Amino acid sequence: MAIVPFDDRDGWIWYDGRLVPWREAKTHVLTHGLHYASSIFEGQRLYGGRVYRLAEHTERLFESARIMGMKIPYTEEEINHACNEVAKAQGLDNAYMRPVVFRGSEMMSVAAPNSKIHVAIAVWPWPSYFSPEEKRKGIRLTVSEWRRPAPDTAPTKAKAAGLYMICTISKHAAEDQGFADALMYDYRGFVAEATGANVFFVKDGALHTPIPDCFLDGITRKSIIALARARQIPVFERHIEPAEMAGFSECFLTGTAAEVTPVSQVGPYHFSPGQLTEAMTEDYAKDVRATVMIDAT
Ligand code: PMP
Repeated sequence: MAIVPFDDRDGWIWYDGRLVPWREAKTHVLTHGLHYASSIFEGQRLYGGRVYRLAEHTERLFESARIMGMKIPYTEEEINHACNEVAKAQGLDNAYMRPVVFRGSEMMSVAAPNSKIHVAIAVWPWPSYFSPEEKRKGIRLTVSEWRRPAPDTAPTKAKAAGLYMICTISKHAAEDQGFADALMYDYRGFVAEATGANVFFVKDGALHTPIPDCFLDGITRKSIIALARARQIPVFERHIEPAEMAGFSECFLTGTAAEVTPVSQVGPYHFSPGQLTEAMTEDYAKDVRATVMIDAT
């Protein structure tokens, strides 16, 4: 399949308050966000023409910006409106949407308090993060050599571009070795998350998932916990030692892009995607559509 570069597509991108032709949504090479990672973003999906949990994503966008000391020059309502506007302009009902906020070119040094804060929102079709074939069998993960940093080492609560350095390195290394992704441990050695998704395990009919105290508390993660509890499935949020993986029967990833993705292997540990992974996949698929119906009435 030919790769269509992201800067050479048709349509519109919302950029600093207005829709601009896709190819004209540019920024200069001397941009603070590019040099010093003063950039935060969101990833959200449209299902049936509505952004699933848009308010939560926009709230997290503003919280990430606040943590980074960046004042977004719009209100949350304006950003929500802009998200819907760009989806409509692009004529997409089922798609992935990426709001990004970054410091501009006014100042080029570590401190850049007077830089303009830019906001862009793009949307494009992205059916599945992992291939349907990979998803059916369960994806294979290796273990990353990189660890999620401590909360006093990096702004771990922000969805900040800088935190993805180790994710890209880890995922490249995993793919080079024939794995779909990498599982990352945290600075203490506990199981943390994959490079762009949270992780759940199954043991004796219950779900176990790490406490998000040094990595992103995914919006999908929170949906899955609520959906599981609605089914009376016990959910334990706790620190998980890597060796415990030997005793887990199922494993799956959750994320806006990954949705619910079964995992068949993490390094030396093997899992069989089963009943609970299937139940959560189905419940999540219903939930993303149900939100549409509730919103539409
Ligand atoms: N962790 C990381 C590092 C991510 O990039 C993502 C995707 N945003 C997640 C977890 C899952 O978050 P969410 O469910 O909000 O998409």
